[in-house]
Amino acid sequence: MTQASPRPMEAHEMATKYTVAVRALCEFTAKAGDLDLRFTPSPTAQEGIAGHGVVTSRRDDDYEREIALSGEFGPLHVRGRADGYDPKRNQLEEIKTFRGELERMPGNHRALHWAQVKVYGHLLCAARALPSLRLALVYYDIGSQKETHLVEEHSAAALQAYFEAQCGLFLAWAEAELAHRAARDEQLQALRFPHADFRPGQRELAEAMYKASARSCALLAQAPTGIGKSVGSLFPLLKAAAAHGHDKIFFLAAKTSGRRMALDAVENIRASAPLLPLRTLELAARSTACEHPDKACHGESCPLAKGFYDRLPAARAAAVRQPMLDRAGVREVALAHGVCPYYLQSELVRWADVVVGDYNYYFDVTAMLHSLTVMNDWRIAVLADEAHNMVSRARKMYSAELEHAGLRLLRKTAPAALKKALDRVHRQWSALEKEQQDDYHAYDALPEKLVNALQTAATDIGDYMAENPAWFDADILDFYFSVLHFTRLAESFGDHSVFDVTIANRGAGGGTRADSVLCLRNIVPAPFLQPRFAAARTTALFSATLSPWNYYSDTLGMPAGTAWVDVASPFQAAQLTVHIAGHISTRYQHRDRSLAPIAALMGEQYQRQPGNYLAFFSSFDYLDKAAALFEREHPHVTVWRQPRRMGEAERDAFLARFTETGQGIGFAVLGGAFGEGIDLPGARLIGAFIATLGLPQLNPVNERIRERMQAIFGAGYDYTYLYPGLQKVVQAAGRVIRTTSDTGTVHLIDDRFARPDIRALLPAWWHVPG
Ligand code: SF4
Repeated sequence: MTQASPRPMEAHEMATKYTVAVRALCEFTAKAGDLDLRFTPSPTAQEGIAGHGVVTSRRDDDYEREIALSGEFGPLHVRGRADGYDPKRNQLEEIKTFRGELERMPGNHRALHWAQVKVYGHLLCAARALPSLRLALVYYDIGSQKETHLVEEHSAAALQAYFEAQCGLFLAWAEAELAHRAARDEQLQALRFPHADFRPGQRELAEAMYKASARSCALLAQAPTGIGKSVGSLFPLLKAAAAHGHDKIFFLAAKTSGRRMALDAVENIRASAPLLPLRTLELAARSTACEHPDKACHGESCPLAKGFYDRLPAARAAAVRQPMLDRAGVREVALAHGVCPYYLQSELVRWADVVVGDYNYYFDVTAMLHSLTVMNDWRIAVLADEAHNMVSRARKMYSAELEHAGLRLLRKTAPAALKKALDRVHRQWSALEKEQQDDYHAYDALPEKLVNALQTAATDIGDYMAENPAWFDADILDFYFSVLHFTRLAESFGDHSVFDVTIANRGAGGGTRADSVLCLRNIVPAPFLQPRFAAARTTALFSATLSPWNYYSDTLGMPAGTAWVDVASPFQAAQLTVHIAGHISTRYQHRDRSLAPIAALMGEQYQRQPGNYLAFFSSFDYLDKAAALFEREHPHVTVWRQPRRMGEAERDAFLARFTETGQGIGFAVLGGAFGEGIDLPGARLIGAFIATLGLPQLNPVNERIRERMQAIFGAGYDYTYLYPGLQKVVQAAGRVIRTTSDTGTVHLIDDRFARPDIRALLPAWWHVPG
């Protein structure tokens, strides 16, 4: 069934009409009482769809399914799809799937279901001039496959009165939203760039963003550091929101620092437009937003869940008056009204103009922003910052791992009712381990019996939880969610992924007591991301390193017609001296031999120009050996090393040593915490040594990825090793020049850097000696 939260209609109707979906209307007007997640996670989305299918397939041929209905009330346009209508019985049905005991469903869930079916009932009576109607809530038990029907008969007049009462409750809010939208768009049309002028390159980026929005296409934008990308992307999309009728902008970042920059950019823009009524919301993970991590999300356990929906209207009204709702802002409003900050922010997504969050809120398997967009038919623009991270992040989202060792422990502690299902999984898993000769093996097909056993185990655990709501076992819950994720991905297994099994601790003689890890490893996230791009009016992926664009376009599944812009760097070749140490090989077999010449080269550079440097290596082992030798040979130079395990305090301490007046060399691992996302302008960093091409390790997993990349794109080596490696090199080197007044030196240490195909992947503005 369609659900939608309110949103204004087409631009020409915007001032007068407001579209609201039936479910959204009822959620606004008829939800009361506690937040209670105990009845969920009931069915998965797939189970829900399948359950609807089963119920409607049991009906007669003349049964009508998915009936589109709409109606008006003043400026409100109410629309939705009713699940089914049985003309023989004159019965309108609202189908709900569930697990466990129906009596346990909280009363406020039931009240919401009645509200929905009554509103649909009015819309159907009005559309077909029916004098009365039977309304049925059909609860379908996923486990037993039984239906429970709750039926009421209503006259058309009574349903109309109910509909008008619900609309009446929503009207004032809708009118305020219409006024907000009109004022927002008027101010956005008049919005001026927040600075006296664009920085070099910033205008080009802004124009590309605006044009992409006008064409409703996606954009890959390679834009160098230092041009002000956050403002340069947000400003044109805010202008476009008014001009092209966008409801919302989602600004997504890979890291907290990226979210902060986006929020700062919003503040920057708002500071120059004090009349602009823009609502900005930052999304925080549950782990950081939850006020009671030791409690469960229901009114009997958590005080912020108790009466949540009763206090939500006041919290919502207070929140929308705050233009900036970052994490602290949401928390403040939530606690002032005694509601959970995490679930308040989910509600506020519906009313925000700009939402700032991690990639996963839009791109992950069950991403909230994406499902709300689809359900609500929002017109959205998506910005993804530091988008060179998208391939690896998306692969993780669409991969799943299960460890046999974890299951072994669970079998000892699980309730008796779950033992049978877990034992079956264990048997199938052990059989697979026994059959597999190698420690690592990638399979072309999934092991059907094992996947079936996992599915049964997930169903049994789900049923057990529904039947025993007070029972809680964190380990089983973790296993349950991991299995759900695994089996969900198994349903869409294809060329984009590999299924592999890695066996460790195999007993002597290949014995059976092995510990293995099952991995559904996504390699090409494109098929999963395509619907995400399709749901947005425009998506702009930007980063300082998005070359070659076809690698990102292919692997991420950018839509046909995606635009590409390579914004010229504001930096001059004279700012950066690039040296290639062609006499050194950093290949694995040559590493020991490379240490002495690397130490010598670094010593010479330091002597020539003392100051702060970063030196990057491919592994901690290599780093330690190189640092130890350098310290022996050059004891007068201060050296500090990236530790193997590092908390936030150690990371900060490492960076704090790069001061304006300091001198020394920080040894780091390429692709780690210091290879990107750090800003050390001026004398804080005057040079970098990069003793690696950054190529991913040669191992069975990467080789399997290479084979698959070759089969799909005809570019196995480049897509697996070369491009991801060089992207890290360019990111690391990019730490040296941060502003147009910076100068510095980069040493690329390996003979392969002299090869034409490698040089072609280095930034065009660098002057690389021939
Ligand atoms: S505060 Fe934590 S436990 Fe309470 S409802 Fe929110 S997320 Fe759940």
